[in-house]
Amino acid sequence: MLVRARVLDTPDDPFTGGVDGTGLRSDEDAGLLVLDGVVAARGPFAQVRAAHPDAEVVDLRDGLLLPGFVDTHVHFPQVRVIGGLGMPLLEWLERCALPEEARLVDPSYAAGVAADFVSGLVQAGTTSALVFGAHFAPAVDLLFAEAAVAGLRVTAGLVVSDRLLREDLRTTPQTAYDEGLGLAQRWHGVDRARYAVTPRFSLSCGEPLMDACAALAREVDGAFVTSHVNENPAEVAAVAEACGTSYVESYDRHGLLDGPAVLAHDVHPTDDELALLAARGTAVAHCPTSNAALGSGLFPLAQHLAAGVGVALGSDVGAGTGFSLLKEGLQASFAQQLLGDAGHPLTPAHLLHLATTAGAAALRLPDVGHLGVGMRFDAQHLRPAAGSTLDVGLRHAASPDAALATVFALGTSADVRSVWVDGEQVLDRPAPASSGVD
Ligand SMILES: [Zn+2]
Repeated sequence: MLVRARVLDTPDDPFTGGVDGTGLRSDEDAGLLVLDGVVAARGPFAQVRAAHPDAEVVDLRDGLLLPGFVDTHVHFPQVRVIGGLGMPLLEWLERCALPEEARLVDPSYAAGVAADFVSGLVQAGTTSALVFGAHFAPAVDLLFAEAAVAGLRVTAGLVVSDRLLREDLRTTPQTAYDEGLGLAQRWHGVDRARYAVTPRFSLSCGEPLMDACAALAREVDGAFVTSHVNENPAEVAAVAEACGTSYVESYDRHGLLDGPAVLAHDVHPTDDELALLAARGTAVAHCPTSNAALGSGLFPLAQHLAAGVGVALGSDVGAGTGFSLLKEGLQASFAQQLLGDAGHPLTPAHLLHLATTAGAAALRLPDVGHLGVGMRFDAQHLRPAAGSTLDVGLRHAASPDAALATVFALGTSADVRSVWVDGEQVLDRPAPASSGVD
């Protein structure tokens, strides 16, 4: 197909300059020839059309075409408990998250949650995600199956813990290894799925369990490791007491950061921890609505950038307040503003980069994240309801940067009309009724 659209993407890192010093690539009337799921040619529409006169044209000029979002931290079992506001992390886990996670022991309940979860991601324009799974292997199988049906590019795994959490969420090192290996054998490398070894967090995982996780990560070629780090001061202090090391070292000393790894949050790192993350190539999933909702703190982005640590966005549903990375981008901007001189001001190009190319880098998906030639056609078409405030803003935006800023300020999942993964359409919503003000 030959896609005709106004396209915005960030092939170059705006934190280091990029296109025109902004990092934002904007083509008003682009033609993208998509063959076998890949962008095979790109240029001014008329030019690409002339070279490929027989290609079927998909005209998307009534909105904006963006790369699909890459969510680097999102919890499958928590879709139904979004909105537990007003509590710090450990209380929120106890009261909101863990009782719901325990319900996924029932496969029929887990199947419903998997459907809700995958649908929420796709509707938000998310095409790739690193997903925190469930504590129960059958529920994780259901997640992988649902993602495969929906076409989502998913990296996920069995969440394991053997202390601190309620009894029904605990496992043993041997069971964690065996069940994880079974899941990896069924799903890792199958179509768009990959396996992620997922110790819940250091506080809830004893040393033998961490070693079992590391053994599994070594056993499964190309497996990811994902967990949490430095989210909340009380939690950081508890980890220091329980583990006798810094939070990052509590993973690294088991070899868990030797391969591809993403740790979520890192709101309260030390300089030594940042240096260690950079040395290991471990990326950080920044989850700004979660950080605000749980009062975890304001993310020290400038320190991460200075240390050379890769940062991308995560929704952290269900402590985060929804699946849309537009909202996460906006909240990321707010957090940096609130840091004053210590913050790193974020342009719209920075936000798009964090939601797309930076996420693809964190998940080591080299042909995902922007819409240049040779990349997978993972994309979303944003088209707000006629007359909505976003529609007004886009029609009057003075520049591509202004249009993108409007999208981050006002856009929601409801504005996402179509989504493609590998050129295959995975969401097709009817045109919205026009509305007054949203
Ligand atoms: Zn999380």
